[in-house]
Amino acid sequence: MSKIHYTKPSIGALEVDYATDAAKHGWGAHCYDYLHRFEKLFREHLGVSYAHATSSCTGALHLGMAALGIQTGDEVILGDINWIASAAPITYLGAKPVFVDVLEDTWCLDPEKVEQAITPQTKAILAVHVYGNLCEMDALLDIGKRHNIPVIEDAAEAIGSQWNGKRAGSLGRFGTFSFHGTKTVTTGEGGMLTTEDPELYEQVTTLNNHGRVKGEKRQFWPEMIGFKYRLSNLQAAIGCAQIERIDELIAGKRRIFAFYREHLRELPLAMNPEKIGTINGFWMPTIVVDKKIPFDRDALIADFQADHIDGRVFFWPLSMLPMFEECRQNKVSYGLYSRAINLPSYHDLTEEQMSRVVAHIRRRVEVGT
Ligand SMILES: *Cc1c(COP(=O)(O)O)cnc(C)c1O
Repeated sequence: MSKIHYTKPSIGALEVDYATDAAKHGWGAHCYDYLHRFEKLFREHLGVSYAHATSSCTGALHLGMAALGIQTGDEVILGDINWIASAAPITYLGAKPVFVDVLEDTWCLDPEKVEQAITPQTKAILAVHVYGNLCEMDALLDIGKRHNIPVIEDAAEAIGSQWNGKRAGSLGRFGTFSFHGTKTVTTGEGGMLTTEDPELYEQVTTLNNHGRVKGEKRQFWPEMIGFKYRLSNLQAAIGCAQIERIDELIAGKRRIFAFYREHLRELPLAMNPEKIGTINGFWMPTIVVDKKIPFDRDALIADFQADHIDGRVFFWPLSMLPMFEECRQNKVSYGLYSRAINLPSYHDLTEEQMSRVVAHIRRRVEVGT
């Protein structure tokens, strides 16, 4: 039986051509050509005014929050169901991640819980679009406006997702993306910060150039302590090819989700939602088995393993991790992970391979047992 990975990138002739060209010619006067082209293509795709490429999404979040002035003693609110990369940059700045409960259907921030968690120390609301599912952006932006707190979007998992016609990552004060090898669009490692705010963009650019301000005449004269989270021209070359193919890459993810959805339709489980007015990029097709059904997640993962299929566990609540304070009151978050699993979803999966995955799920999730 062939191995079924849970993700792997879609790299074709275009990526190889551009990377080869960058390796041959992308030096000296041309050392930023692909980088600038990548940023331009990404701006156009997302429909935003400014995009700044970074070496990771973690770095983009760190830079963006530093540019907002977040510092020691501040608080940033985010959902308890998340990957650590969304929370870690908050701690790099000495601020505290405040984990609130998520909604049962989207696994993203519950706006009511966000509003209850606001204190005078709250400096940002971090809306992470988990597995491609969209946060309730209208409610969150309204809360942000009423309390004068910026809403920022971690759209690392939401390439292809749209909220009332606007792409995820283009709605908040800034958005961040990841081009890690597991994401819908990849450069190996990489990230992006997007915004409509020219001042924020300038500040991010300065910070990411070790604090050297644009237009400074003196060489090697930083104005402040900055960072160095820049994407290389070589990686950007692969990124350019990926963005030229982005519709195909998103369509691939949606095709895979549609197959699973269709073939798991009558089972007692929920999958990534696509609410009215939204489009889901379906980065990671996920099942959450109904509470009333006895379900052994680890047994399903063992079945997968025995059949050479990568099973990926749903995110643990971040507040369960040893470095944070436990938040058992986040009942939805604590009730999700043992019932949930991510399904393999790379672009080239065949129907035969997906059918193999489906068969294992069917065996474990018996209707009404
Ligand atoms: C992958 C991911 C990140 C981290 O991205 P890197 O590029 O690996 O730093 C951050 N946030 C979310 C939501 C992610 O899925």
